[in-house]
Amino acid sequence: AAEEGFEREDVEGAIEAAGHGPLPVLAVIGRPNVGKSTLVNRIIGRREAVVEDKPGVTRDRVTYEAEWAGRRFKVVDTGGWEQDVLGIDASVAAQAEYAIEAADAVVFVVDAKVGATDTDEAVVRLLRKAGKPVVLCANKVDGPSGEADAAYLWSLGLGEPYPVSALHGRGTGDMLDQVLEVLPDAPAQTFGTAVGGPRRVALIGRPNVGKSSLLNKVAGEERVVVNELAGTTRDPVDELIELGGKTWKFVDTAGIRKRVHLQQGADYYASLRTAAAVEKAEVAVVLIDASESISVQDQRIVTMAVEAGRALVLAFNKWDTLDEERRYYLEREIETELGQVAWAPRVNVSARTGRHVEKLVPAIETALAGWETRVPTGRLNSFLGELVAAHPHPVRGGKQPRILFGTQAGTKPPRFVLFATGFIEAGYRRFIERRLREEFGFEGTPIHISVRVRE
Ligand code: GDP
Ligand code: GDP
Repeated sequence: AAEEGFEREDVEGAIEAAGHGPLPVLAVIGRPNVGKSTLVNRIIGRREAVVEDKPGVTRDRVTYEAEWAGRRFKVVDTGGWEQDVLGIDASVAAQAEYAIEAADAVVFVVDAKVGATDTDEAVVRLLRKAGKPVVLCANKVDGPSGEADAAYLWSLGLGEPYPVSALHGRGTGDMLDQVLEVLPDAPAQTFGTAVGGPRRVALIGRPNVGKSSLLNKVAGEERVVVNELAGTTRDPVDELIELGGKTWKFVDTAGIRKRVHLQQGADYYASLRTAAAVEKAEVAVVLIDASESISVQDQRIVTMAVEAGRALVLAFNKWDTLDEERRYYLEREIETELGQVAWAPRVNVSARTGRHVEKLVPAIETALAGWETRVPTGRLNSFLGELVAAHPHPVRGGKQPRILFGTQAGTKPPRFVLFATGFIEAGYRRFIERRLREEFGFEGTPIHISVRVRE
């Protein structure tokens, strides 16, 4: 389509750029103070991670998007936890475990000036068990004289140590080239599942909303089929559960059942675990305690699922405890606090009495169907044509930008590219999103719209 001033390559390039599916995940792990956050900032090219890293402030942002040599991926930063929560070894092991679980490849950062410690050796054992591709980053090699220190790290048995100065950028390019060598194009976790295999569900929510109660209810204590992941000897993390005549894979259920009780740092672990579960899942069921006010933390968890581009179901639990007044206020809160995900299917359940838990499956199926919806280009363009004719973009500075045509570049979640004659305002984009939803459904899924402007 050398249509209306767009070059063919332009159109194809825009579609390809917009059409990527879920991105592969790179986890950056290592002991405290080896330079993980510094390295993550270097990789993502921003100061964001460190800026948020104030003592005493819990960081709940753990994944960032990055690009290297034209490839996009996600980076999980594990630098933000309090090191004295469990004692160093246990802390490092716990964070490494979650992060490795969610990752498609791992950068293991060691302080080359210090050399390999016992804690580092413990992490190496975890890495061996997990069997994920690993790139060994020998950090704090700020100049040529440090290279010898890096060479000592061959002893870890993880292959070539890449000498890096995260602080100054030295060697990070070579290391990232190696990362791209081992990082798969698509997240194996989510999309390695055979067609027709069980769909992956993340049951998430803040502590005490009733996740483990609901899991027990739907699984039925003894009917749980344990799925030991190949090559691991630790607790199974995913469970296959029969529901509504189908088998579903509930991811990271060990995290839900195990319930490590911590004081400081607990929120950070919870965030990391939630992020890990979301990355592994196709659909997130966010459980909210309906008996309490919807909190900022609930909203953050919803945002995590939406930003990760997963299908979404909202489940309001503890419905058995609600009186009429609370039900009234809850509806108001949902409108104001969760208005941005009004498209998500909603179920009101009680893990205690079993009320409406059978409605979870239809809601999950609806959300997954929305997530996978593909609108044929012809239908999309007749819709866009009518929409633009009936509701043109407002005139700005004597000009009226016009949408010429569009296409759906991808699914899971649906991604659209629109081609326009000029800058399309945010308000008009939102209007288009609303109308797309009215016309085509997309229930339970975020949708992405990018606009390409003619030169
Ligand atoms: P994290 O706890 O592993 O996330 O470590 P940080 O990224 O917070 O870094 C810990 C300290 O090491 C900070 O003072 C950094 O400035 C410093 N650091 C990180 N990378 C380098 C490096 O490549 N060279 C030197 N000399 N210092 C570094
Ligand atoms: P988790 O931290 O999200 O896994 O939450 P739990 O499943 O451990 O539940 C926290 C508390 O809420 C426990 O005391 C449960 O008995 C209680 N609970 C969970 N679901 C319900 C429910 O539907 N109704 C009532 N009344 N209590 C519930």
